[in-house]
Amino acid sequence: MLGEFDLINKFFKFATSSRSDVLLGIGDDCALLNIPDGQQLAITTDTLVSGTHFPENLDAASIGYKALSVNLSDLAAMGAEPACVTLCLTVPKIDTDWLSKFMQGFLELAKQYGVQLIGGDTTEGPLSISVQAYGFIPEGKALKRSRARVGDTVFVSGTLGDAGLALKENKEIKFSKSSLHFLMSRLNRPSPRIELGIALRFFNASAIDISDGLCKDLNHICEESKKGMTIHLQLIPLSSELKKYIRETGDWTLPLSAGDDYELAFTISPDLKDKFLRQTKELSIPVTEIGIVNEGKRVNVIDTDGLSLEIMDGYEHFKKK
Ligand code: ADP
Ligand code: MG
Repeated sequence: MLGEFDLINKFFKFATSSRSDVLLGIGDDCALLNIPDGQQLAITTDTLVSGTHFPENLDAASIGYKALSVNLSDLAAMGAEPACVTLCLTVPKIDTDWLSKFMQGFLELAKQYGVQLIGGDTTEGPLSISVQAYGFIPEGKALKRSRARVGDTVFVSGTLGDAGLALKENKEIKFSKSSLHFLMSRLNRPSPRIELGIALRFFNASAIDISDGLCKDLNHICEESKKGMTIHLQLIPLSSELKKYIRETGDWTLPLSAGDDYELAFTISPDLKDKFLRQTKELSIPVTEIGIVNEGKRVNVIDTDGLSLEIMDGYEHFKKK
């Protein structure tokens, strides 16, 4: 049996990489962090509870990956460059095999972005993972939700509804093995859009990450900016899997209302649009224009016949007016 000290050293302290701006990492009562000149510290936290945010039988590496990913996604949506994280882990028992796989998934993503694990807490109880993430943003460049202006273009990254489709039990639609793999990885191993968030700093953008569904999350930008938006259904970017699902079911709720995609939705003023599109092309970041910001209060979705859809509760249902 590993003692607590050995456990912390093996799985956390010596497993993580080290950064020059971290003066003191794991092992003392607090970690110490140097904030570079001219930068602001962005802080976010998110908890994943077994059975609520992921199925109890999900593999440990995916749980570790996702627990970090959803937090890095919040940093991305603010335009922050990730720097370090803390990890509060509640586990039913100390199972070193499980812990090793969990940390493998967690550190795989941490290493990709040069993120250092600087502390945390380990307790016994029902499985739950709480991560706090810290990132840096040049002063005044945060992608606040309150920044949308009338006439701005509304964009989203990637494709929408894939994680929602992975969650759905629809045995009537047959997908190939590679499609099923794609959908499950969209759900269990979402990629935070860090590079996009950083690129958006120079475009005076408002942004949000799509964790609860496109309409619900865009409505947060509308509320904070005191504006409305018109979104065109046929412009929403879809994977071939989602297109097949919609073709066979006629159900558009997933790209509009399903959560867990962790793509970014954002607004950019029209004069900066061409420059932005050139830059994202160079960086190979997929982005799509889906609508425009206007006077108003909420998101209005126009369907393929030009009719307005009424978003029922912004989460699961929508219907034609
Ligand atoms: P304290 O009693 O001072 O809170 P702990 O015994 O809880 O300290 O932890 C000792 C050290 O190990 C601390 O630096 C803490 O941040 C770190 N630590 C404990 N659990 C974790 C974890 N799950 N991930 C990362 N660091 C951890
Ligand atoms: Mg402690």
